[in-house]
Formats: sequence, structure tokens, C-alpha cells
Amino acid sequence: MGKFIFITGGVLSSLGKGVTSASIGTLLEKMGYKITFLKLDPYLNIDPGTMNPYQHGEVYVTEDGGETDLDLGHYERFTNVVLSKKNNMTAGKLYFRLLEKERKGEFLGATVQVVPHFTNEIIKSIEDVVSDNVDIALIEIGGTVGDMESLSFLEAIRQLALRIGKENALFIHLTYVPYVKVAGELKTKPSQHSVRELRAIGIQPDILICRAEKPLPTGIKKKLALFTNVDENSVFSAPDIDTIYRLPLYLKKENLDKVIAKYLNIEYREPDLKDWESIVESLSSLEDKVNIAIVGKYIELKDAYKSIIEAFTHSQIVNKVKVNLKWINSDELTEDNIGEKLGDVDGILVPGGFGERGIEGKILTAKFARENNIPYFGICLGMQVAVIEFARNVAGLKNANSTEFNEYTPHPVIDLMPEQKNIDKKGGTMRLGAYRCILKEETKVREIYGEPVIYERHRHRYEFNPKYRPILEEKGLVVSGIYEEKNLAEIIELPNHRWFVACQFHPEFKSKPLNPHPLFVDFVKATINYKKEKKISIRE
Ligand code: GLN
Repeated sequence: MGKFIFITGGVLSSLGKGVTSASIGTLLEKMGYKITFLKLDPYLNIDPGTMNPYQHGEVYVTEDGGETDLDLGHYERFTNVVLSKKNNMTAGKLYFRLLEKERKGEFLGATVQVVPHFTNEIIKSIEDVVSDNVDIALIEIGGTVGDMESLSFLEAIRQLALRIGKENALFIHLTYVPYVKVAGELKTKPSQHSVRELRAIGIQPDILICRAEKPLPTGIKKKLALFTNVDENSVFSAPDIDTIYRLPLYLKKENLDKVIAKYLNIEYREPDLKDWESIVESLSSLEDKVNIAIVGKYIELKDAYKSIIEAFTHSQIVNKVKVNLKWINSDELTEDNIGEKLGDVDGILVPGGFGERGIEGKILTAKFARENNIPYFGICLGMQVAVIEFARNVAGLKNANSTEFNEYTPHPVIDLMPEQKNIDKKGGTMRLGAYRCILKEETKVREIYGEPVIYERHRHRYEFNPKYRPILEEKGLVVSGIYEEKNLAEIIELPNHRWFVACQFHPEFKSKPLNPHPLFVDFVKATINYKKEKKISIRE
């Protein structure tokens, strides 16, 4: 039986529970332990796939096509684990399973209840992620302690911990210690209340990690320890830091790794964090910068583009340049203002998206990048708009469009494939997860990837309509990546352009600080070169 670390959050959301869990994962993995993660989300959707990004932020896609919480992105970026659908469970999914069993008659004669039936379902989902070769499973409970909906999850982990015994279960509570300016004081009361809530349910946290603007003074830690019944040496602070990738280093410096090893009664091995140190070192010493525009429609909420932002961060490490992201709302772009909004950037990225709003602005963006030879990177919808733009303005296919935005377009260059047309459900029915893509010889992407076959993750319903491929290819569009089994275009590029690459998949999901994604790295390199060329031509 493996060991479990349960991570809960207190006081308020957005404290970085996911990044903290991921960082603990880094430390344990670097100590040589096999780990895995599970994110338990107390909401009732089966998965976040049908939610608006404003509700939930990005939907992170796993290799096996799970539409999951964005924290799974942190887990994969901070460690070597490969996660799957079962590493993210929601109350909705678990209730669904439970009720299916009830209909089958598995509980015949019994009243089906939250305790023990639903809590047993939660416990089963936790046990499901621990295979024989996992030493430690990190179980993160979404939401904030005190929320009505997380109660059954807390009850489930309490019961599980009791069953497996103290040495096998560790409770870590992430909390917040605000600084009240007028009083000039750090306040521990919200954390005390939050721990009290936990203890009322029967969970005594072993470790507190306290988010605060600055490191906590010893006096505050002592006070927290006394009033929350936690050992003084088990109260840690997690102050605001320059980059999230510093967190494992910070927590190690505070000896969190040693304290965890002691509680779980596992051998302490010094984690080797040299590679991690060098990442943080290079991220904090970037001098030059490039400006890259992201033209999307959820720009007020940066969490909607979490993996893209992180992939750019990773590409900074290799390119040794700061990537400054300029957020442009595609809804506001017009022929008249596009020059002013995008004229001075060194590169443009159009990310994924759904629905018609802002579409014409994105098509205009692809046109602007193509005509002005500005590096363009299209992801998913960003590829579809590039195809629409090329069809309309280069191949002369008037009113070409995607049937997602105009069902009656005379030229459905982006369309649903037959297998998608008969689906009447919205949840979990897109082309999801990793697909094999064959790269065409002598293309930009073949050179960038340095290999002929790649696997990338998808999340979309519509495709580049194969009927239109010959027409657009004849006009100079190169289809450089193919999903052979279905003969679908996965990547397009423009050979006579400085850097114009667009892919149907989401490369951002596979970028890691220790293994930055080649497309992001090369795109940023192109923006650096473009910036240099602009400077030279101004001087001349
Ligand atoms: N809306 C488009 C589709 O469903 C693109 C999806 C995306 O960008 N992830 O095909």
C-alpha cells in the first residue's frame, strides 16, 4: 500500500494549491519516489469540458483525452508523471457512477446515502490512482474548507486516513495569512478558523503552508502552531515569488521535504534540484525582450490560457529572452485599427476558442500577419482562422468559413467530419487527446521537431475540410502534418513567409520547463530574429 498526502485549502481560493501540490511532487520525485496526483473537484459537472473559461479557466487535456482541471497541467509540468482521465474526479462524475450502480441494482434493499455510499465512491477513486509502483499519491481537494460541497470529500479522506493509519497519511493545509496595512500586522485569525473547520470534521492538519506576501516571522509561525495544534516546525510560509518554478526550491530551503519524510516515515534522500535551479536562474536573468500579441476573446482571464503562458515561459529559458505578452481582444479588431494594435509586435499567436464572437477579428489577424510577414503561430482555432483567411483572400473563395460560424457558407473549408455530424451530445465528444501526426519532409515543422512522427493533444470538433485541401495547396498553402488514419490536416505552414505555422492540436499541453515545446521555442526564436531585422531596416 502506498502513502497518501492530502492537500486542502483554507480561507480563500486562488492561493496556488495546484502549484504547491505540484512543487511537493517535484521534491518527492527528486527524492527518488514514484508519485501520482489526483485532483478531486467538488462541483457537479462531469468534467470541466462544458464550462466557459471564465468559470473555470483552461481545460487541460491529458494524453488519453481527459478534459481536466488546469491543476493537472501544473502537476505534469513540475514532474515526470503522465496523467490520465482518472487523475481528475468531480463530484458529478462520482455521483454519476454511483447512480448507475443504483440503477443496476447493486444496492438493492438499501437507502443510498452520501455517507457511506458516496464517500466510498470517493475513496475508491483515490485508491484507483495508486497502482503497485506508486509510492506516494498526492490528493488535492478542490475548493476551500468550509464550502458545503467539499464536506463529503473531507469526510472521505478522513475515513481513508483512519483506515490506512497515521504513517501512511499526511494532511497538508494551505492557508492565507493577510497583512493588514492599517494595523501593520499579519493576521492569523482566518487560518485559525480554517483549521478549526477542518478539526470539526475530524481532520487535524499535520503541516500548514501559509501564503503571505512575505515570509512569516517566527513569532507568527509560533502563534499559528499554538492555536492550530500543529508542530512549530511544521508551519511553513510560502511568500509571493518571482516565478512559480522557484517554489520547490523555496520549500526545500524551508525543509518541507525533511518534515514530509518524517511524517510519512520514509527514507529521506536529498532531492537533486540542480536542473530546477538552473531554470530559475535563467528565468530571473533575462535581459532582452520580445513582444508577442495573443489575440483571443477570454483575455480578461489569464487562466483561460494557462498552458500557453507557461509554454512561453519555458521558451524563454532556451531563447534567453523575456517574452512580453500583449493581450488583444479579437472582438475589438477592425481593418482600421489592426495596424495600430498589432503593428509593433514581434509575433502573433491566435489561440484556441469556441463560438462565433470575435472570429472576424481573428481572421483579420491571420491576414495581417500573412501580408506583413509577421511571425504567426495558430493553435487549434488559430489554425482554422488561418485556413479561412487563406481560402478567402489567396484562393479567392468568397465567404469561405467554418460551419461552426456559418452553417450556410458556400465554402466550408472548416467543417464537421461525418463521424462528428451525428453526435447530439456536447460533453466529451470532441476529438480529444493524443493523436499521431506524420510530418512532411522538407517542411519547417519537420525541421523544428527533428523527427518524422509526433504525438500531440487535441480538443476540437471541426477539421480542415479535406475537400478543400488541393485547392489551397495549389495556391501555396503547405499541409506539413497529417493524421494519416483519417487523412486530416494537423499542421499548415506558409513557405514564403518568415514564420507562419498553425496546428490543429494544442502543443502547449506538452511543454515543460525542463523540456520546452519545440514549436514555442522556434516561434520565439523567429520573433527575436524579426525584431533584429526590424531594427536593422530602421537604421538603414
Ligand atoms: N471551435 C473549434 C473546434 O471545435 C476550435 C476548438 C479549439 O480551438 N480548441 O473545432
